[in-house]
Amino acid sequence: MRTPIIAGNWKMNKTIGEALDFFKVLDQELQQFSGTEKLEIVIAPPYTAINKIAEFLKDSSIKISAQNMFWEDAGAFTGEISAPMLKDAGAKYVIIGHSERRQFFNETESAVNKKIKAALKHNIIPIFCIGETLAERETEKIESVISTQLTGGLIDLTANDITKIVIAYEPVWAIGTGKTATKEQAEEVHLMIRQMLAKQFGQANADVIRILYGGSVKPSNSKELLSQPNIDGALIGGASLKLEDFIGIIKSVI
Ligand code: PEP
Repeated sequence: MRTPIIAGNWKMNKTIGEALDFFKVLDQELQQFSGTEKLEIVIAPPYTAINKIAEFLKDSSIKISAQNMFWEDAGAFTGEISAPMLKDAGAKYVIIGHSERRQFFNETESAVNKKIKAALKHNIIPIFCIGETLAERETEKIESVISTQLTGGLIDLTANDITKIVIAYEPVWAIGTGKTATKEQAEEVHLMIRQMLAKQFGQANADVIRILYGGSVKPSNSKELLSQPNIDGALIGGASLKLEDFIGIIKSVI
């Protein structure tokens, strides 16, 4: 049984005050309806707000994620944040390899792989993002792109490591565009990912890995996407910034 995850990626949005205002209402609202214990709810605020929010949520089941990290533990790496620092601040998850990092910050498969290994070493759960561009979809390269990203990101991981990570399939053409993969398109790739994982790490291990869908998820499409057999939750950008939409997505799946 895979516990679904509803995860919000706030990207470069919200000050500490705005973040706290959001969580005060979210925490209260979630206490008003049952079923949330069947889910994991995760939010990835900017680095600056992680510690304040983690302190505010210390008695709540909502978990905090970072949006990125560096692979070294400490040293002369100006501007970077390490896994031990994230742990100290209260993050339980970290998003790794988001398409915006690959696109705007030249993040390579090798960097993604080092970050995943560093997160695991410090018991932070990586949410490992993969997904094809529109040009790759239109030229029928989905399978090769997903396979390259998946194998590149998971080099040297053991079968035991693999069961601790979360994968997010995020077709790049659906991120922030309002275009969502249909439930059939999404399920097809999720199944493909699980089969690739099974080939490399064994079916039993592949069966416990949560694979989230990301790309313009909103309250109106979350139920049908998340009812697919291989879709174990969602990574949500834009709609996670609006309380009403984020709560709407949670309600649609409990
Ligand atoms: C994301 O950035 O991970 C994402 C899925 O964004 P959006 O929901 O806005 O498409």
